[in-house]
Amino acid sequence: MHNGVSETEVKQTAFIAFGGNLGDVEATFESARACIEQLHHTSVMQSSLLYRTPPLGPAGQPDYYNAVIAIESALAPLALLDALQEIEAKHQRVRAEHWGPRTLDLDIIAIESQKIVSDRLNIPHLEMQHRHFVLQPLCDIATNWQHPILNKSASQLLQALLETGETALQKGIVW
Ligand code: ATP
Ligand code: CA
Ligand code: CA
Repeated sequence: MHNGVSETEVKQTAFIAFGGNLGDVEATFESARACIEQLHHTSVMQSSLLYRTPPLGPAGQPDYYNAVIAIESALAPLALLDALQEIEAKHQRVRAEHWGPRTLDLDIIAIESQKIVSDRLNIPHLEMQHRHFVLQPLCDIATNWQHPILNKSASQLLQALLETGETALQKGIVW
């Protein structure tokens, strides 16, 4: 390991979820995606549609926008998390109320079939299977990705969630 990059610089596919509900969110997402493309040893491969979704957590917040992108990166998981948190900070993300309004939230949903359990990072993201606004955009770009602990594909996880009575998201837009 050197500077958070694997020695062999093997790139792995990771899925990054974008969320936000303050300011010009579409412009923020485009800017953040460009920042991710600029990271060392990292390329943006695919983007889901951009969805508008009702807020989770405290009521009375504006609607959220959500999307997921696929990247290929040789950054180690914690180096990737550091880089994403810097990009959040650059876009005026202020951590105030838990699940409160924010300009930009970047979560690492998964890194291929890796499993990581640690203080700072859980991979796959612990809540992904309960979140429509993550599973729908993930299915846009990686319907066959397999959850390494639940042993279900992205589309099976989405199907299971819809069977609990969640209404489908309105179709998203290209961004
Ligand atoms: P949630 O995690 O429920 O979506 P949140 O995104 O609002 O909530 P944050 O305040 O953005 O929560 O993040 C809290 C901490 O979660 C981060 O500082 C980070 O260390 C940790 N974390 C654990 N797993 C992940 C992951 N897969 N992606 C991003 N952050 C993670
Ligand atoms: Ca989040
Ligand atoms: Ca987060």
